[in-house]
Amino acid sequence: MTQAGIKTMTVEFVCEQCEKDNLTNLLAETIVIKCSHCDHETKKTLTKSMQAGGKLDRCVLCDKIRFYVQKDFNPRLGIIIFAIGVLFSYHTYFVSLFVATLIDFILYQVLKTVTICYHCRAVYREFEEDPTHRGFDHNLALSLVEKEEKEKQVLTA
Ligand SMILES: [Zn+2]
Ligand SMILES: [Zn+2]
Repeated sequence: MTQAGIKTMTVEFVCEQCEKDNLTNLLAETIVIKCSHCDHETKKTLTKSMQAGGKLDRCVLCDKIRFYVQKDFNPRLGIIIFAIGVLFSYHTYFVSLFVATLIDFILYQVLKTVTICYHCRAVYREFEEDPTHRGFDHNLALSLVEKEEKEKQVLTA
């Protein structure tokens, strides 16, 4: 038996206590999410679908169900590649500029998508892609915030 080919689902999140970035594997049914900076711990439960590496149906951190997808691309890397292209463009008669643009384009094509929670911005990797998840929708994000404000008002009323 080899471990190769087994996906490791991960979630990248910001600690609610110290507000630093963390990365945790998501494999078991119940996982203890522990901050690597301040040792703050929370116990969370994964849905059946998520345990199997299937579709994301509930954010493990905030229990919300709205997600958006984007390419797992470090924008800084894209800028560096492009800057190098510009730097050499004079000597290479702008061929380097074209190459840099091409590299950026290819990178974008081969990169995987990540799924991000609208509410807490947790970043999920290696889960099955859900075709109903779209790119970031500003209006949806706004309406979700408004909905939440209303719910809060109802609770406190
Ligand atoms: Zn922390
Ligand atoms: Zn969330």
